[in-house]
Amino acid sequence: MLRSIFQSGPELKSPRELALMRESGKIVAEAMRKCREMARPGVRTIEIDQAVEAIYRHYGATPLFKGYPGPKIPFPACTCISVNEQVVHGIPGQRELREGDLVKIDTACKLNGWCADSADTIMVGEVRPERRRLVEICKQVLQIAITEMGRRRWWSEVALAMQRHVVSSGFSVVEQYVGHGIGRIMHENPQVPNFVSREMKKQDFRLEEGLVLAVEPMVNMGKGDVRTLSDHWTVVTRDNMPSAHVEHTLAITRHGVQIITADPLPPTSTVASPAAAAQPLA
Ligand code: MG
Ligand code: MG
Repeated sequence: MLRSIFQSGPELKSPRELALMRESGKIVAEAMRKCREMARPGVRTIEIDQAVEAIYRHYGATPLFKGYPGPKIPFPACTCISVNEQVVHGIPGQRELREGDLVKIDTACKLNGWCADSADTIMVGEVRPERRRLVEICKQVLQIAITEMGRRRWWSEVALAMQRHVVSSGFSVVEQYVGHGIGRIMHENPQVPNFVSREMKKQDFRLEEGLVLAVEPMVNMGKGDVRTLSDHWTVVTRDNMPSAHVEHTLAITRHGVQIITADPLPPTSTVASPAAAAQPLA
């Protein structure tokens, strides 16, 4: 989310409201699972978007990106699909995925009035080790946020831990885009930066029960600077080096941090594992 749209303080959600958000989160998780299954060499990004749209239609959920107002044109799809040096907000189209690509897929829906938002970086086929490391670090940064949110008092403490992990790994944090509160609407207060700065510290907020945040680190292999392409949406790295982006909708509850967009099913493997093959016939 662009940093300039926020004004008032965060709205806290009740356990009942969190349960409703989880229903929306499960649909987003299913959409993300479908994306991971489909992201193979030769697949066009529009085909992935259409599959996600079909899942939302099946559940009667509203896709939140389609028609989202932009500076020039509304966003035309249900997913943002951003490949390699594209950071976020890529428009699905005829582009075919290729072996070695890093594909960032971001999607959100609303069900019964409540929103959920999630993103993942998917590696297509064999990916070069440095790119794999970028994805690994980005996922670790989200995990750091999940862990630290449960034990810190202020968001800036979490953001600092996230930023330190990126920088100590030799990568950069994208600062033009940040996470956000989420609930009845997709982009609520507060702004949720993945870094700490004097300006952002003025808008620091307390981590308390009922707070729901879409936390979405964007990590660049090169410098953190980004720019927007002439399609008015696609954000790319200025140095054309690859970028990774992951996101979960996270709630602070009495029992700890709940991942609203967690996949309820165990991860699927496309390759039969030796352990599975060794199962005795019963
Ligand atoms: Mg998102
Ligand atoms: Mg988001």
